Amino acid sequence: MNSKQNQKGATLKLKLESRGAHLTQQRAAVFDYLSQVEHHPTAEEVYLAVKQKLPKISLATVYKNLEALVNCGAVSKLSYGDAAARYDIRTDHHYHTRCLGCGKMWDLEAKAGPDWLKQVKPQAGFAVKDYRLELLGYCRDCRQ
Ligand code: ZN
Ligand code: MN
Repeated sequence: MNSKQNQKGATLKLKLESRGAHLTQQRAAVFDYLSQVEHHPTAEEVYLAVKQKLPKISLATVYKNLEALVNCGAVSKLSYGDAAARYDIRTDHHYHTRCLGCGKMWDLEAKAGPDWLKQVKPQAGFAVKDYRLELLGYCRDCRQ
């Protein structure tokens, strides 16, 4: 483990402890997996991956660990209608591409900040609380 990873682990530990939670081996494995992939996996995908390393882990535990990571602000949860929630290691405001085939999502670098938002006019009386920019389409694997 390099010093950057050590630092990340220490930050994660502090975030969890601020919410009365602990950095368990399972929680660290869930967080590690989320850090390693770019497609913002579902809980099920996290479970299948982490089970390779920690065979005793259950899907229910993975759900609980993900919730703990979301609650302490280390991970964000992306919910879209009826589709399974996906989990993102980034917690800053940013955008995504989303595949209509497999449902995977990737970070999208786009300049759609407050200046862009000023040009968008919702109907009178509509109070804007948040916004997101999402490109929908098919990823390389789903295009064929
Ligand atoms: Zn796809
Ligand atoms: Mn993201």
